[in-house]
Amino acid sequence: MNIKGLTLAELQDYIESLDLPKYRAGQIFSWIHQKKACSWEEMTNLPKSIHRLFSEKEISLGCLSVLDRVEADDHTTKFLFELDDHQSVESVFLPDAHHHTICFSTQVGCGMGCVFCATGQNGLTRNLAAAEIIDQVLAISRMTGADIHNLVAMGQGEPLINYDEVMKAVKILNDPRGVGIGARHITISTCGIVPKIYQLAREPLQVNLAISLHSADDELRNQLVPINRKYPLRELFKACREYTADTGRRVTFEYALIKDVNDGRADLQKLIESINGLGKRSRALYHINLIPFNPIPGSSFERTVPQRVREFAALLTDAHIETTIRKERGADLAAACGQLQGKRAD
Ligand code: SAH
Ligand code: SF4
Repeated sequence: MNIKGLTLAELQDYIESLDLPKYRAGQIFSWIHQKKACSWEEMTNLPKSIHRLFSEKEISLGCLSVLDRVEADDHTTKFLFELDDHQSVESVFLPDAHHHTICFSTQVGCGMGCVFCATGQNGLTRNLAAAEIIDQVLAISRMTGADIHNLVAMGQGEPLINYDEVMKAVKILNDPRGVGIGARHITISTCGIVPKIYQLAREPLQVNLAISLHSADDELRNQLVPINRKYPLRELFKACREYTADTGRRVTFEYALIKDVNDGRADLQKLIESINGLGKRSRALYHINLIPFNPIPGSSFERTVPQRVREFAALLTDAHIETTIRKERGADLAAACGQLQGKRAD
């Protein structure tokens, strides 16, 4: 058992089942999640008898080992972690003057097969356990000494396919007695697993939702994001409307601009019509984040030229749709969106 994947309540139950006083659970939770301890010995306010008991019971503190760490000029840092079964996943540390962000993985690989994404090229290997998701955050925080403000589930994997473990990890990372990252600072990005969007809307913990849209045309989106064949745009937009109605939270649509694929006038027109079609209040409730496309090996897709990206953004803004262009970070280390493949830097 990896103790990092337990909520405080579960840890308390477990501690009591070992006939230890309940308050020990709070101490251990704080050592793990606040002080980022990686061994029982570090937990100096616990008696040695407890260290021994945990070692005997093979209760794991399971700290991920780092296979590789590369830092870009802008200090964006990509970490490659090795899991217990020797699989590997990346996480990206995005430091900022005030608000440090971690982009974490939720699966090894991804089964969604989006044609423009390196992670999807080799299919899904497996889901990550909550402990493995949490430990990406703890390990980076420990190694960089940084306080983490924001989390984004935009590394390897489709978070809503691994719903239960992802939500468990989010709940634990949100606990103020642990890392304490506010729900408003946690973003789940999905290619559009419609039933899970409804489930997410009903969660007591209301995180930010980002939808990887990339096209507002079913025919094109079927090709780019194959899950669209199962959950077409009409259903996806309906789920988004319900999400905003239930939670009062804004939804972000991510749109990676690929040259001559989804960056034309007709593409823009469809996008504007779709957003406007979301309802009267759609302008306040939806936001478009344009992502400069990151070319991936084995694909002929090219990025839209920066001038066209700016033009696309300006035309959306003219149509009163709030639009931002994602600041590019880490592309030189293959740490940018869609480039994570569980490989070492060359
Ligand atoms: N599976 C989730 C989260 C991980 S992907 C999802 O698809 O939303 C994180 C973001 O990177 C998504 O918006 C995804 O569409 C985008 N992305 C994937 N490949 C990309 C590429 N080559 N260039 C730019 N963005 C890409
Ligand atoms: Fe998976 Fe997201 Fe990549 Fe699509 S874009 S293959 S859902 S990681």
